[in-house]
Amino acid sequence: MQRRTFIHQFGLGAVALGTGIPQLDFSGDFSLSILHTNDLHGRFEGNKAAYHVFAQQARQFVQKIRQEQAHVLLLDAGDVLNPSNSKGEELAWMKGMGYDAFALGNHDFDRGMQDLSSQLSKNPIPALAANYQLADTPLVKLVKPYHIVEKAGQRIGIMGLGVNPEGSIPQLLREGLVYTDPLATANQVAVELKEKHACNLVICLSHLGYHYKDEQISDLKLAPQSRHIDIIIGGHTHTFLPEPIVVNNLDGKPVLINHAGWGGLLMGRIDLQYSNGAIRVAKGENVAIGAQNWAA
Ligand SMILES: [Zn+2]
Repeated sequence: MQRRTFIHQFGLGAVALGTGIPQLDFSGDFSLSILHTNDLHGRFEGNKAAYHVFAQQARQFVQKIRQEQAHVLLLDAGDVLNPSNSKGEELAWMKGMGYDAFALGNHDFDRGMQDLSSQLSKNPIPALAANYQLADTPLVKLVKPYHIVEKAGQRIGIMGLGVNPEGSIPQLLREGLVYTDPLATANQVAVELKEKHACNLVICLSHLGYHYKDEQISDLKLAPQSRHIDIIIGGHTHTFLPEPIVVNNLDGKPVLINHAGWGGLLMGRIDLQYSNGAIRVAKGENVAIGAQNWAA
């Protein structure tokens, strides 16, 4: 396995990537663009013109990056569904867009696990929730703790983390779901991905939320207590970050955290470059998609 290091080293605490990111050329061994959304809440279908503007602009943006870059991952950090205006075709839309994986958000349970399992069966996309045990539910064979993608010989482990369902998913909609501690689970899965499955990069799709005033686990609490997670792509708190931030983990290694607002107003983009066995962050930004046409 190649030695992995993030070239950009930052001090303790959360630090924005800032404008000083060197514009690396992409002539190196291998480059990867990670595009991501979170908390879309079904705002790509229905009657509102703004939803269609987002759907069209998101598709054009993803297509453009796929033309420019040899390797692209398209990911989502949960809450894709919106039961109030949905035709129930969210996962068909995701499948059409070519999403590589998504984490289960609390609202993805809004129409019940049977409906979700039927959508997932029709539109197989890796649905991830490492800290939800679903053995006694209709989702047992459809939701996995992690998914491994190979791009140009690199192994990329992607895991999902769900928010505490207590207070966020009505009991009737989550019969049989057993919630386990996200931090312990994440560290256990991450070490498995790095050591047992020889992943060069571990991405955590987290629906825990960016930050809370109380002690509740969030991405800002997870990152410094984690090991072997390189990137956290989050959702749930509808947090608009202009660009990813960096927090050092338990071993003093940098973890990139990004959130892309909600409703498709932003699409996250993290460009990585592998060269000489190291991983460089070449670009990190959140791109406005259709915001000028948006009506809440
Ligand atoms: Zn949520």
